[in-house]
Amino acid sequence: MKKSILIPFIIFGNFCFGQFTVPALPYSYEALEPNFDKETMQIHHDKHHDAYVTQLNKQVDANPALKNKNVEDICKNVSKYNTQTRNNAGGHYNHSLFWTILSPTSTLPSGMLMEEINKTFGSFDSFKTQFSDSAKTRFGSGWAWLIIDGKGKLKISSTPNQDNPLMDVVAVKGTPVLGLDVWEHAYYLKYQNKRVDYISAFWNVVNWDEVNRRYKEAKK
Ligand code: MN
Repeated sequence: MKKSILIPFIIFGNFCFGQFTVPALPYSYEALEPNFDKETMQIHHDKHHDAYVTQLNKQVDANPALKNKNVEDICKNVSKYNTQTRNNAGGHYNHSLFWTILSPTSTLPSGMLMEEINKTFGSFDSFKTQFSDSAKTRFGSGWAWLIIDGKGKLKISSTPNQDNPLMDVVAVKGTPVLGLDVWEHAYYLKYQNKRVDYISAFWNVVNWDEVNRRYKEAKK
């Protein structure tokens, strides 16, 4: 009895929603105004992120090797899969991370993380400058990252397209603790060609509590 109810539900559930879903924003679309505007957040989350998830689910349907894999595992072994899987798994992972490291109430790095930032980059301001430079100089579409590398050290990196530091195909590998989307779709409505202004505004909405949490998790 139990089985006969459960199985159609699972099949129906997978058919309707797919293996991956877009996580809800942890705040309202307008919560990051005036730094990130409501319309951009709405389109970015509901349309762009949704498209990556839809396309990734299509790849899952076409490739049994992706079945029941989580998005981190797919990224870590991305060289085994096709380009659509690479782009859309990256798009899903990157945006899922991005929404959580933003907040209407910006905080500061924890004592432990601040100490590590000062040690690695000279000062918090110097870190912000170096990270911003990495975001500014990423040619075309991509992301800037703060990562923890294999030796437990903080590092700034950037990746093209929807690649990320988890992927086995990128030059600088590690666990991302902070990421900034520098695709034009992330800022064009409000900032047009002024990527630099968008990057400055980003610092007003960083959820350092979440970055602290990710840092502690990655150091384990
Ligand atoms: Mn984006």
